[in-house]
Amino acid sequence: MHVQNKYQYVDYLWDDKKAASLKDDQVALFLYRSNILGADLRITNYGGGNTSCKTIEKDPLTSEDVEVMWIKGSGGDIGTLSRSGIAGLYTSRLRNLKNVYKGLDDEDRMVGLFYHCLYDLDSKAPSIDTALHGLLPFKHIDHLHPDALIAVAAAKDSEKVTKEIWGDTMGWVPWQRPGFDLGIQLEQCLNNNPGIRGIVLGSHGLFTWGDTSYDCYINSLEVIEKASEFIENKIKAKGNVFGGQKINSLPKQERIEKATQLIPLFRGLCSSDRSMIGHFTDHEVVLEYINSHDLERLAPMGTSCPDHFLRTKIQPLVISLGQNDNISDNQSIIKKLEPAFAQYRQEYSDYYTNCKKDNSPAIRDPNPVIILVPSVGMFSFAKNKQTARVASEFYINAINVMRGAEAITAYTSLPRQEAFDIEYWLLEEAKLQRMPKEKPLTGKVAFITGAGGGIGKAIADKLAEEGANVVLSDIVEERLIEAIKTFKNDTATYAISDVTDHQSVEQAIEKACLDFGGVDIIVHSAGLAISKPIEDTTEKDWNILQDVLVKGQFNLSKVGASIMRKQNLGGNIVSIASKNGLVAGPNNVAYGTAKAAQLHMSRLMAAELAPDKIRVNTVNPDGVIVGSKIWEGAWAEGRAKAYGITVEELPAHYAKRNLLNEIIYPQDIANAVFALVAVLDKSTGNIVNVDGGMATAFVR
Ligand SMILES: [Zn+2]
Repeated sequence: MHVQNKYQYVDYLWDDKKAASLKDDQVALFLYRSNILGADLRITNYGGGNTSCKTIEKDPLTSEDVEVMWIKGSGGDIGTLSRSGIAGLYTSRLRNLKNVYKGLDDEDRMVGLFYHCLYDLDSKAPSIDTALHGLLPFKHIDHLHPDALIAVAAAKDSEKVTKEIWGDTMGWVPWQRPGFDLGIQLEQCLNNNPGIRGIVLGSHGLFTWGDTSYDCYINSLEVIEKASEFIENKIKAKGNVFGGQKINSLPKQERIEKATQLIPLFRGLCSSDRSMIGHFTDHEVVLEYINSHDLERLAPMGTSCPDHFLRTKIQPLVISLGQNDNISDNQSIIKKLEPAFAQYRQEYSDYYTNCKKDNSPAIRDPNPVIILVPSVGMFSFAKNKQTARVASEFYINAINVMRGAEAITAYTSLPRQEAFDIEYWLLEEAKLQRMPKEKPLTGKVAFITGAGGGIGKAIADKLAEEGANVVLSDIVEERLIEAIKTFKNDTATYAISDVTDHQSVEQAIEKACLDFGGVDIIVHSAGLAISKPIEDTTEKDWNILQDVLVKGQFNLSKVGASIMRKQNLGGNIVSIASKNGLVAGPNNVAYGTAKAAQLHMSRLMAAELAPDKIRVNTVNPDGVIVGSKIWEGAWAEGRAKAYGITVEELPAHYAKRNLLNEIIYPQDIANAVFALVAVLDKSTGNIVNVDGGMATAFVR
C-alpha cells in the first residue's frame, strides 16, 4: 500500500485500489497516470505535454512479439486522455527513421513518416513529440510543462541551476523546437549521462520516466516538488517577487466596475479583424505581477514555453490608466486607447515581416490576445469563450514561470525568430486550416430577456446553435438555473433582470459584458398578456403591460445601445411584439396598445441608431401556443372564452385562422430572430410576421 503525504506543491492522487483494478494492463495504467497528472494544473497546463508507455504486442502480419509505443496523439489534454486519444506505433520502425532523417529542414516530412510506423490502425494522429518518447528506451515516460520546471528551464544559466537542484541525476538539453532532432538530442543526453532520472528541456519543460506507471508518476511528482521548493526558498531569501509592488490594486468592487467599463472598449478595438469574445480575471497571481516594478521590463520580453505563446501571442498589451483618464467618457478614453492598439498591431506586423520566410503562411490577426491593466486585472480576447479563458490561464502559467525564473536567476525568453518559427509553422497552419467552418454567429454575444422558458428560451437555443454566446435573462433565478442546463460549457451564462427597472437592466447587461466582453444582440422577449374588456381592465393591468413591454424595451435598448456604441461594432436590437400591435380587436386595449408602442419605438430607434450600424427590428408572432409561457396563465382561458371554445382547441383554432393554416411554435419565432440578426443584414425598422399569414396584419 502506497501512502504519500510528503508533497506540498503537487497533488498525490494515486489510488492503489483503482490501479489494482486495472490489473497489469500497462496502457490502462498509463492512461490512469495521465489523467491524475492532468488533474493538477501545477503539474501541466491545459493541453500541455504528453505521456507514453511501451508494451509487447503480437504483430498481426508475422505473429512475432513486437514493441509498441502508446502515446498521446496530436491535440487533447492528458487530464481527459482515453484510448481514442492515443496512437500506437512500432518503436523499431520509429527508431529506424533516424536512417532517413536529413536534419532540421526535414522535420515536417518526419511527421508524415510517423504514419508509416503505426501499429494500431485506429490511432489518433501522432504528434510532433512522438520521436521524443520513441527514441528513449523507458517503459513509461512523462513529458510535462509544470510552471516550476519551465521556470528552471527559462532561468538564466538554466543548465547550472539544473545541476544545483538535482546534481548529476538530471540531464539538460538546450532549447530546440520539438521535432525529430530534439528526440535525437534526448537520446544523446541519456547516453552521455546514464542513470539520470529525467531531462530538463531548455525554455520548454521536462522529461521523466520509470519502469512502471507508478514509478514514473512518483518520479515526476518528486522532480516537480523539488523544483517548486527550490523556487519558494529562493523567493523567501529574496524577500519579494517582481521587484516588489509599485502600485496597489483598486478595491475589489472598483476593479470589477473598471473592468466592466473597459471590456467593451477593448473588445471593440480587438475586433478589427473579427468579432472577439472576452474574458476578465483579477486573480491574485495576475495582480502581483501587473502591479509590480518589473512589469515594464518583463511584459515586452514575451512568454517562453511554446504552449504559452501559441495561446497568448508572444507578448501582451499593457495599458496604464492615469488619474486623469476618465473611462466613462467614451471619446476621450478611445482617443487614448486607439493609438496603443494601433502600435501593438504595427509591432506585430513588424515582427511578422522581420521573421517571415518564403513559405510562411499569411499574417494572422495582429490584435493583442492579452491586455494587462495595472491595478485592475487581465483581459483576454479570442474567437470564443473557451479560447479566451484558456489564453488567460496560460498567461497565468507564464507569469508563474517568470516569477520562478526571476527568483532563481533571471527570466530569459525565446529569441523572436524561434517564437515565429513555431507560431507560423506550416504544421500549425495546417491544423488551423483543418478547423471546422465557423457558424454565422461565432464571436457574437446575445442577451435575451424572458429566456427562462418559452419563446425566449427557444431564441437563446437557436442563437447558441448558430454560434452565439448567449446571456439568458429573466426575473426568476430558478427558471434561469433550469434553462442554462441545456447549454454547453462556456457558451451561456445568465443574469437576473427586472426589465421594468433601469438599474436592474444595467447590472444584467454589465454582467454580460464581464462574462463575454460585451453585447451585440439584444432580444426583448420578456412579456405577459392580459385580455380584458376595457371596463374590466384595471390601472394595474395597464401599468404592468406598459412597464414590462414598453418601458422594458426602452430600458434594454438604452443600455444595449450604449454598450454597442462603446464597442463600435454595430449591433442588433430585436423586440418580440405581436400581431395585436397592428390589428384592432375586442378585449385587448391594454395589451394591443403596449404592443403598438413597442412597434413604433423600434422604428424610432432604427432611425436614430442607424448611423452606428445598430439595426432595430421587430418580430410579430401570433398564436404561439405550444411551449409558450404566456398560455400557461389566464390568457389562454380568456381567449378560449372569447372564441367560445376550450383551451385544448386553441392551437387548431389559431392554425385555421391564418392563411397558411399553420400552428406557430416558439422555434418559428427564434428562426425569425436569427434571420434578422444574421441574414437580413441590410434591414432595419422592419417587422417580420411569424403568424402563418394574417391579411389584417400585413404591414404593406
Ligand atoms: Zn512540450
